[in-house]
Amino acid sequence: MEIKTIGVLTSGGDAPGMNAAVRAVVRSGISQGLKVIGINRGYAGLIAGDVKEMTARTVSDTVHRGGTILYTARCKEFREEAGLQKAKDMCKKLGIDGIAVIGGDGSYRGARDLSVRGVPCIGIPGTIDNDIACTDYTIGYDTAMNTALDMIDRLMDTAMSHERCIVVEVMGRGAGYIALNTAIAAGASAVLIPEVEPNVEAIITRLQRAYSLGKKHSIVVVAEGSKVRAQELTEIISNRLNMEARCMVLGHVQRGGSPTLRDRVEASRMGCRAVELLSQGIGNRVVCCKGNEIVDYDILEALQMKKEIDMHLYKVMLDVSF
Ligand code: ADP
Repeated sequence: MEIKTIGVLTSGGDAPGMNAAVRAVVRSGISQGLKVIGINRGYAGLIAGDVKEMTARTVSDTVHRGGTILYTARCKEFREEAGLQKAKDMCKKLGIDGIAVIGGDGSYRGARDLSVRGVPCIGIPGTIDNDIACTDYTIGYDTAMNTALDMIDRLMDTAMSHERCIVVEVMGRGAGYIALNTAIAAGASAVLIPEVEPNVEAIITRLQRAYSLGKKHSIVVVAEGSKVRAQELTEIISNRLNMEARCMVLGHVQRGGSPTLRDRVEASRMGCRAVELLSQGIGNRVVCCKGNEIVDYDILEALQMKKEIDMHLYKVMLDVSF
């Protein structure tokens, strides 16, 4: 099948760098002589035919902006056969021969469903959580970590001034990548991540040791997916150690902001690879970053992969945090 027109959409949670990926798809598509259609609001916009033709200029001044200029949505209808058929019919009506889908695991399931129904789709990993097994890196992860780090640095200043312990909850869904890395980088005294069974007693002991060695203030980082939540740990610390502890949930601030250099570059590389595949009529694959290489996998194969937290990194955290 000759590919003349491709679509691009963003789906699921937004992440800084998604615009850089959209831009790369648009510009490399145009460079290869393709027409590129921007689909608003993910699969919901596809079903509704909410689209606009993209030109080199519609993506001007977007590479440094957070969020997504195509908007994003979660769409229940797309999970059902009727919704998928509507999406397929809309592609036919609009002349869309293939789609680059920027999002997470859920979005790839949709991309696969559409690919097997005759519209080749290529997934591009966009999520701050870095919780996609097939890729070492997801677009938005670096920016989110640096934003969280900046916030924790600020909290460290006030923790120091009031000689407090501040327990900070960071995002990451079921994964502890943001928590572990920011904990090390911010000089936190302890971290709780979903991949490691929480041991509150060990945290109390670590804090006691640090304070007995002269520490007067501390930061503890808790991943949002941890079994023991930040508020609960704050209460335990303040009761058991008889000190003033405060809880701070960073929340959605971590999802916004101008993407870092790394997010912009990886998004550009992955966007270009997605177009290379789509222009050959290849679908049902997800573009990934492995080491310093951009590779691609079959979506089903990618969804079955498992990703583990780097326990050496966890050990580094234990070795330096007291
Ligand atoms: P993410 O892509 O960030 O993992 P979601 O899981 O919310 O985010 O998925 C985004 C969208 O992808 C959903 O609203 C839905 O339209 C589609 N999707 C998710 N899971 C499936 C599925 N199992 N089958 C088909 N489409 C799905």
